[in-house]
Amino acid sequence: MISLEKALEIVKREVKVLPSEKVKLLSSLNRVLAEDIYSEFDIPQFNRAAMDGYAVIAQDTTSACLTHPVVLKIVDEASAGFKAKSSVSSGKAVRIMTGAILPEGADAVVMFEDTESEKDEVKIFRSVKQGRNVSFSGEDVKKGEKVLPRGTFIRPAEVGMLASLSKEEVCVVKKPKVAIISTGSELTEPGDALKEGKIYDSNSFALFSQVVSCGGQPERIGIVPDDEKELLLKVKEALSFDILLLSGGVSMGKYDLVKEVLRKAGVRMLFWKVAVKPGKPTFFGVRNHTLVFGLPGYPVSSMINFENLVKPAIFEMLGRKDYKRFKIRATLKEEIKNTSNRENFIRVKLIEQEGKYLAYPAPSQKSGVLKSMVWANGIIALPKDVRKVESGKQVLVEILS
Ligand code: AMP
Ligand code: MG
Repeated sequence: MISLEKALEIVKREVKVLPSEKVKLLSSLNRVLAEDIYSEFDIPQFNRAAMDGYAVIAQDTTSACLTHPVVLKIVDEASAGFKAKSSVSSGKAVRIMTGAILPEGADAVVMFEDTESEKDEVKIFRSVKQGRNVSFSGEDVKKGEKVLPRGTFIRPAEVGMLASLSKEEVCVVKKPKVAIISTGSELTEPGDALKEGKIYDSNSFALFSQVVSCGGQPERIGIVPDDEKELLLKVKEALSFDILLLSGGVSMGKYDLVKEVLRKAGVRMLFWKVAVKPGKPTFFGVRNHTLVFGLPGYPVSSMINFENLVKPAIFEMLGRKDYKRFKIRATLKEEIKNTSNRENFIRVKLIEQEGKYLAYPAPSQKSGVLKSMVWANGIIALPKDVRKVESGKQVLVEILS
């Protein structure tokens, strides 16, 4: 039995970053950049008004106040997307709208609220400093700047930035293809009638969703009964994927065939059994470039071990390093116990109350109780040598998202 830390190290050693592909900008959300993005121009490309008002020479307004406004002559108008024909010289102003090119000569904008106009004259009631209400060229992005490095996870903000850099397509890392097999003769497809002793397959659906959440491309190979021949057939089919996830059949029972079938399929085992609870009998092996995870059948074990071992593998395949969960300090609201000699992952619900976080452990921490995962938005990783933590103590909760 090895520690989770050691297991993770072994998994990461086997991961290779996947090749890249070009996608349309609007398909790049939640993908990972496979290229450095430089700007070919300044953003904005010109000095522009940041407010609706009057483009002026700041010096002209020095003496302006409510009782003694400065009066300037309006010589032109500029709206967004257009440039005024006239320039601004002392004693003159151009009426200007947000986003319009700042006319030549002007170095500030007085906002409408501080003015009053009549015919072709405007009274300025407040002085402005040079550069006031102007957004200068290159203020957002400078020409030649590396705006987004390779490995960046593309969120809505990055999509917007790529658009303002005029990128119609971007190079992203290919999504890892993940095959999912549920093993167990008791498993039934949701929607089908349930015979005595049978249960619905939930693992492959939860795992499918976890893969999607991590940026992978899952495929449910389906349910395979505890039959060596059938399982071997399906496993061989699934070994063309980047990752193969199996759930169930990986512990010590008479019908736990996964290890043996994987061996027959040519999968080289790198570990079996990790010192964690839930999910000790987790298996990991490789065949060529395919990473193979045998996750225990209990729904919580399968989900938690995905979080701890599969998610980092998918992230690393995508060139992402940020698989670690955020941690938040919280007050434990009920005593928790570790009855194993393994690192124990306690599912908790984190609630904010008056600026403080409270952690409520799920009422049942059994690995067959999937409701504990539905309950939880966080987990507490109790080290193997900590026997219990009393209610009221401060704990670190790792956020599940
Ligand atoms: P196993 O790891 O195959 O010994 O399974 C452990 C427990 O998890 C048993 O009670 C199984 O019925 C249950 N189980 C296994 N696979 C699934 C699945 N795909 N969905 C829901 N429960 C499962
Ligand atoms: Mg089973």
